[in-house]
Order: sequence, then C-alpha cells, then structure tokens
Amino acid sequence: MSVYENIESVRQKISAASQRAGRSENEITLIGVSKTKPVDLINEAIECGICDLGENRVQEVLEKFDKIENARWHLIGHLQKNKVKYIVDKAVLIHSVESFELAKEIDKQAKKIGKIQDILIQVNVSGEESKFGVTPRETLSLCEAVSELENVRVKGLMTMAPMGSSESELRFVFGGLRKLCDEIKNADIKNIEMKHLSMGMSGDYEIAIEEGATMVRVGTGIFGTR
Ligand SMILES: *Cc1c(COP(=O)(O)O)cnc(C)c1O
Repeated sequence: MSVYENIESVRQKISAASQRAGRSENEITLIGVSKTKPVDLINEAIECGICDLGENRVQEVLEKFDKIENARWHLIGHLQKNKVKYIVDKAVLIHSVESFELAKEIDKQAKKIGKIQDILIQVNVSGEESKFGVTPRETLSLCEAVSELENVRVKGLMTMAPMGSSESELRFVFGGLRKLCDEIKNADIKNIEMKHLSMGMSGDYEIAIEEGATMVRVGTGIFGTR
C-alpha cells in the first residue's frame, strides 16, 4: 500500500468513526507521525494534504525542519528541559507537558522569541508505570499553575493507552481523559482552553474518536511499520 492509499483508508475510518459518534470528521485533526521516516515519504503525505506532522524527538524535528515545507510540527514525545530552546520556534503544539518545571522552561524560551506556545498536558490515565504524564488527580492543579505563565497556553490534554489494551481498557483510558477534560473546563481557569484531546494511534484511533478525540496521531497506519 502506498502512503496515498494508506491515508485514504485512514480518512475513511476517521469519517466512519465520527459518524458512529454523531460527530463531524471536521472536528478531527489527523496528525501523521513521521518519526524514523525519510523526507521523501513524508513529502508524499504532505501532497495528500497531511500538513500536521508528529515527531517524538526534538533532534529529528531539527533534521527534517528545513527539508519539508508547509508542515505544522507537533512534538508528541517526552521533552527534556534542555531541549526546549531548540523546539519552541518550530512546534505548533507540544503534546507532552507533564510538569510545571517543563512548562516554566517552555514559557521562558517562548518569551525570548516573542511567541505564545500552545501545549497539551500529558496525562497517564492508565496508571501504567512506563508511561509519562501526570496522574488524573494532579492534572487540574498543574493546569492552574500553568495558567499563570504568560507565554504558554494550555489547549487540552493528551494520553497514550497501554500497548495491547482491550477495547474496554481503551474506552476507560480515552473516556477518562474526556471526563477529566470536562472537569477542567468546568473549573473555568483563566487562559486555559480545553479544546483538544490528543488520543488514539494506529491501533486505536477509531475508538479514541468515538470517545471524543480531536487529534489522532497515526504513524504506522500512514507510513508503514518502523
Ligand atoms: C509513535 C507514536 C505514535 C504513533 O504510533 P503508531 O502506532 O505508529 O500510529 C503516536 N503517539 C506517540 C506519542 C508516539 O510516540
């Protein structure tokens, strides 16, 4: 299957899942996760209208940034504080903020270049030990703390489901993130807009959409196995 065919197929599934959930497919941004993939293949995806690209390493964004035009880069992987200065001028959205310290560093670096950096808070809904992210209980207070920072804006939440989760586990994780998002919305914190739920990967994005995802991060399903 070509990248073009893969994208067509993913789009059809997104559309069908949205319909099942009584939602519009226009509410959902398909992020092509291009990690480890070569520039040629990524440009094929761009030609099919995939302009949102996700990478989980800062170094890889730096390597690809100048070679790929018209892309909106999303940082979706764990971010170390010392790498923040290299990514704030490149990322439209950082999905993986999981501490106030990291948010503060993003604020500092964004201030230097006169940018307001949009971020998501990564939540470890499943409680799986190997996963990054704050616990659901810590999320509201982290949002409150981050809302005080001038050059960072929280736009929503992100999560990853454990590998090999059953459908009911997936629904627990994704539905849990949506409930948490609603709770934070209701807390009405200034500067915080709970507009995005980044959840769902190649194996589980249809369920994520049924549970309210507004951004799905699809790698293998578009670019093939890594
Ligand atoms: C790699 C990755 C994805 C995409 O995974 P696929 O299973 O290939 O779709 C999504 N989100 C994050 C955070 C990733 O690291």
